[in-house]
Amino acid sequence: MTVVDPTLRATRTTCPYCGVGCGILATPNDSGGAAISGDPEHPANFGRLCSKGSALGETLGLEDRLLYPMIRCSKGIMERVAWSDALDHVAHRFRHIIARDGPDAVAFYLSGQLLTEDYYVANKLMKGFIGSANVDTNSRLCMSSSVAGHRRAFGADTVPGCYEDLDEADLLVLVGSNAAWCHPVLFQRMLANKLERGARIVVIDPRRTDTAGDADLFLGLKPGTDTALFSGLLVQLADTGALDRDYIERHTAGFEDALARARGIAGSIAATALATGLSEQDVADFFQMFGNTPRVVTLYSQGVNQSAQGTDKVNAIINCHLATGRIGKSGASPFSLTGQPNAMGGREVGGLANQLAAHMGFSPPDIDRVRRFWKAPHIATHEGLKAVQMFEAIARGEIKALWVIGTNPAVSLPDADAVRAALKKLELFVISENVRSNDTVKSGAHVLLPAQAWGEKSGTVTNSERRISRQRAFRTPPGETRPDWWIVSEVAKRLGFGAAFDFSSAADVFREHAGLSAFENCGDRDFDIGALQSLSDEAFDAMAPVRWPTRQGDIQPQQRFFADGGFFASDHKARFIAPEIPALRTETTAGRPLRLNTGRIRDQWHTMTRTGISPRLGQHLPEPFVEIHPGDAIRFGVTDGGFARVITDYGQCILRVAVSERQQRGMLFAPIHWSEETASTARVGALVAPFTDPFSGQPESKATPASIVPYEYVFRGFALSRVRLELPDHVWWARAAVTGGYGYLFADNADLARWQPWLRSVAGNDLAEYKDFGGGVYRAASFAEDRIETCLFIGPARDAGDWGVVKNLFAADTLSNDQRRMLLSGKSMDGLASAGPIVCACFGVGRTTILATIAAGASSAAEIGAQLKAGTNCGSCIPELKRLIAQANVPGAGADPEQRQLARVAN
Ligand code: SF4
Repeated sequence: MTVVDPTLRATRTTCPYCGVGCGILATPNDSGGAAISGDPEHPANFGRLCSKGSALGETLGLEDRLLYPMIRCSKGIMERVAWSDALDHVAHRFRHIIARDGPDAVAFYLSGQLLTEDYYVANKLMKGFIGSANVDTNSRLCMSSSVAGHRRAFGADTVPGCYEDLDEADLLVLVGSNAAWCHPVLFQRMLANKLERGARIVVIDPRRTDTAGDADLFLGLKPGTDTALFSGLLVQLADTGALDRDYIERHTAGFEDALARARGIAGSIAATALATGLSEQDVADFFQMFGNTPRVVTLYSQGVNQSAQGTDKVNAIINCHLATGRIGKSGASPFSLTGQPNAMGGREVGGLANQLAAHMGFSPPDIDRVRRFWKAPHIATHEGLKAVQMFEAIARGEIKALWVIGTNPAVSLPDADAVRAALKKLELFVISENVRSNDTVKSGAHVLLPAQAWGEKSGTVTNSERRISRQRAFRTPPGETRPDWWIVSEVAKRLGFGAAFDFSSAADVFREHAGLSAFENCGDRDFDIGALQSLSDEAFDAMAPVRWPTRQGDIQPQQRFFADGGFFASDHKARFIAPEIPALRTETTAGRPLRLNTGRIRDQWHTMTRTGISPRLGQHLPEPFVEIHPGDAIRFGVTDGGFARVITDYGQCILRVAVSERQQRGMLFAPIHWSEETASTARVGALVAPFTDPFSGQPESKATPASIVPYEYVFRGFALSRVRLELPDHVWWARAAVTGGYGYLFADNADLARWQPWLRSVAGNDLAEYKDFGGGVYRAASFAEDRIETCLFIGPARDAGDWGVVKNLFAADTLSNDQRRMLLSGKSMDGLASAGPIVCACFGVGRTTILATIAAGASSAAEIGAQLKAGTNCGSCIPELKRLIAQANVPGAGADPEQRQLARVAN
């Protein structure tokens, strides 16, 4: 594998989004962007990319970038400073606070988006040299329950399987995973197995997601009851002779206790059905499928991890695989799907507060080993504070200095309003960032340090199957941006630790990291990449994706773990874990009768700082919404396409309502992506309870008691502008990237006449206008030569003009006279409505167009693809195409209510 494909002049790199870790070929172009395609040689994706990865070329603009170090001056204003001044300031303030209050008065909060080398250096500084383990990461919110479950069962944080297992399994069980949207390339791989080998798919999720559309069996269980389901399964396996007694005997301990506990939780099919809310037939079918299929992979993700009982859920799943010996074998394993691109790399270096480094913990031998390797003067000797506890300690004033690197905790942490308030109390608040502004930066940052972004930085990431890949630079770093490992090393030098942080490149850091993994490692530690510790700079640059472990002297890296035991406990046996009796942390009440589930949508990532600038990705679901079952919608008086206030004990948001039977009764679903940068009142993290799992510290992001009340707006509208707008305070709004500028969808109750002066203040007085204040309509546009500069459409609900049509006109560089005349009608020249909300992001195919094609006879995703190209590139929209076909083919059924709502958004 070459670094740069000579025929294409493309650089081989890795996607910065999810834990699938797809290989990418990036070819920079003259306009600052890049052509992006899947790397056919990368074993994670073999050339495939999902909608997010495919749109990476649209996300390379510099408009929002932080390009220079900045320090808040005494007047409260951020001022540009020289790097040396910024680094001196950070080091001086850290040293002062540590000397005064001790090392536990400072903390780092890192990110699964960091490269392994960045993570390594930050962890080394805090745990080895400052002497505190207060280093945690947003991966705590993603998969720390899987880490804790692995460590309890296997004695180490080991992912036993690999992606080939998804091709080789006969049964794929997805638990709490909307892989169709969140790990699309792997999901396509599973569907290929179903198509080509007849593998069956079971989806277990309280919400009927698009992943369930391809399931042979969908189990829509009650929230929080996964442990009951898998306890019932363990009992059934035992009672039907499906256990692998030999494996249990030779390689495990604790089976009888775990089985006894499982019997107490769900001792029969009937008891399992009762506990989970499923039918006995569905439970029996699942148990039979699992029991009778030796090649079974159980994949779990945030629906399992993000729970106050997440670790027990993970162990309940692993128990069933240990009991049947279906672990680390071809097509048979439990499999944690990590959310982030480098959550695994963070785990490897010790980026979590309860790990030390290189998969070592805080046992005295581990502490001593790491101390000697690092020559560390002040090594931390006990675990630090996990994310939620860390911010609680900040709120109490115990942590006085925080360095946030590459993440946005003011949006993503639970009880996010409390987090924001805590941040404002910090004596020193340093942020290393790509962007100038986000909710965390606005929470009182004192120092901003400009970090290199994807495409500029260079290093490694590890994906869900333990495969280490290179992220390579293919663009010149803008401004004074620097790699994160360099920034942290420079501060370390100023703190007096120069000899230990004298790194000259990412390769330098990687070699040390690899060396630590192999240091005094006789095979008793799983993470060992000793074979890579002596790579030259050139070899590091050319490094092909490699799965760990890859020990010194290995001819071939090891594929899988544990098929023949060899667990990482002192007796080399795995541990069955007897889970606690499952119970959600809080009950619903008369005042909070629903449970709020939070999650992701197909085309956005985290807090949208990157995906939010892609017009292509902004087309799918442009507004923040709350999904609710039709029965609950009637009960609580909210209507499809309307607005509602969602309230919890922690905060409230106003969101669009999407009524959908995919949602279970008693549950709400809201996506996590919007922040105060991108919407007025949709920071869903502020609604989430800060309850955490006792073992992993992972917050319960999927079951906060909530209420919902309707919220009325008289007017709806949208604005499009070449520059970012600040909408009036009284307005509900959401911002979406559009071709050529920014789009704002909004709703309002104020007097319509207030909009004209506002528009004049942002677009000038030279406006083309249509006014019918009596009829509740105001439309106006300003032009620069033949191009729209700014336009505003506002009217009664559902009569504000066609957003899709106007967006197309806005995207044009030149409008004809006729188009200009038609613009304020909000309709297209031919009088037709737009293509509707975009379903296929790659080819911009809208729902209206797809439905027309179905009505004309297309009866499969392939037929739609043949006619419209939809679904023929990344495949991320194929589940949605199938859903539209299924809905159209049900006599009397209309479109999915969520889709209807979204159609209204777009129209
Ligand atoms: S599945 Fe999509 S988001 Fe995930 S790594 Fe691949 S291209 Fe990136």
